[in-house]
Amino acid sequence: MQEQDIRNRLWIGNAWSDAEKGATFPTINPATGETITDVASAQATDVDRAVEAARAAMRNDAWRDMNPHARSRLLWKLADAIEASADELAALETADNGKPYFESRKVDLPSVVENFRYFAGLADKIQGGTIPVAGPFFNYTLREPVGVVGCITPWNFPLSLAAWKIAPALACGNAVVHKPAEQTPLTAIRLAELAAEVGFPEGVLNVVPGFGETAGSALVRHPGVDAIAFTGSTDVGRIVMREAAETLKKVSLELGGKSPNIVLADADLKSAVRGAATGIFYGKGEVCAAGSRVLVERAIYDDFVDAFADRAAKATVGDPMDSNTRLGAIVSEEQVERVMSYVQSGKEQGARLVMGGERTTVNGKGNFVTATVFADVESEMTIAQEEIFGPVAAVIPVEDLDHAIATANRTIYGLAAGVWTRDIGKAHRIARELQAGTVWVNTYNQYDSASPFGGYKQSGFGRDLGYEAALEKYTQVKSVWVALDR
Ligand code: NAD
Repeated sequence: MQEQDIRNRLWIGNAWSDAEKGATFPTINPATGETITDVASAQATDVDRAVEAARAAMRNDAWRDMNPHARSRLLWKLADAIEASADELAALETADNGKPYFESRKVDLPSVVENFRYFAGLADKIQGGTIPVAGPFFNYTLREPVGVVGCITPWNFPLSLAAWKIAPALACGNAVVHKPAEQTPLTAIRLAELAAEVGFPEGVLNVVPGFGETAGSALVRHPGVDAIAFTGSTDVGRIVMREAAETLKKVSLELGGKSPNIVLADADLKSAVRGAATGIFYGKGEVCAAGSRVLVERAIYDDFVDAFADRAAKATVGDPMDSNTRLGAIVSEEQVERVMSYVQSGKEQGARLVMGGERTTVNGKGNFVTATVFADVESEMTIAQEEIFGPVAAVIPVEDLDHAIATANRTIYGLAAGVWTRDIGKAHRIARELQAGTVWVNTYNQYDSASPFGGYKQSGFGRDLGYEAALEKYTQVKSVWVALDR
């Protein structure tokens, strides 16, 4: 794609605009180090304009009074438009993020399309109830949009995570101002343009690319924003919650993780090794739910470590645009340095590096880290406690089921977990006792628009996906009382 074809400006009220004083920032292809394009960098005044456009959309009867079937059809049309542009969007995503084109095109894009279709189906099924109350009254509830929703998203699944928020927010009749991550803003901008092309009225979906401390913070603090739907790190989640408190916004936080992937001695070893590798190397380990702690029962520990290291050796880095590549480029120079500092810390604290642990390039360029396995990791080590967000697995030996559960829960996070066992009783017991928003049994990294996803503990609160979570986050309930005796 030629640079002039790439959309790189603010999208406010269905029109392009520049940021205040023409501010821009470069977005870089991490596989080559080259600047893809310079993107408008939204300032607080630009966020004001976007919020005003969204508020105007909420007053505009073209959106406010659109009948729910029409809203559903519009979302469905947007899904069709995304599907028709899937090659272009996947190429943009891979250029911006460094993830293999295979992942962008075959996994992310189909799931984004499905997401818009799933929530298109919700748009005309949002309803209140009638409530039996004391006295001569008729009482009923209306489920109404929250208003203007500020969506703030991270760089690891830029379009997918935008869809997780934007699709349900629009299905529920809200207007959205979206602040994508500064590392990966391009697909979000194109998505908003597609929404206008299929007929979303002006101001319903606005995009303000820019930095967290400027555009993100302005959105969170803005009195014209009614709710913030945030996905990102736990540290920034804390700031968002504090800053949103000033205007008492509705906040939902999808945050970081240090998810355990537990392999019991009775597991099918081959499947468990494959699942552990998928759990940490898919998406370069830049996955909130990455199975970054692999807890292995002592009886099979040595066999597992050998087989897992072999598997990691085969997960070689490559050009993300090559359809055979399964391990792409780390999103930024800063992130590579962060990952490598954890590798260093693992070595210093006495973990045994059995595979990888190197920074490398492809064709002499880019930010790549080899698939890395540390064995003999202790639960207190930094690499077993902090989110690395890279292809680095910490394998921890455990003595038995109880020890596995206790070790798995020894973290501030609670996003996801996996367990590999052929014992159905153990599988269900673990599913109950793990403090995690998602538990996968004999599988890992499964998602569906219909199944809620989100965190326990400091992995946040609120859920993405699923219709109940959408209603909870993106609607509010009004109770109406009608006297029947006068
Ligand atoms: P990040 O927290 O640095 O940034 C996320 C977003 O917040 C970006 O758009 C950023 O610009 C913005 N931001 C930064 N500072 C801000 C501020 N002061 N006010 C408002 N917005 C601000 O996270 P990241 O590095 O982009 O993404 C990786 C993190 O996201 C990891 O911790 C990962 O686990 C988490 N994540 C969670 C989920 C989930 O569903 N729970 C999914 C994907 C990623």
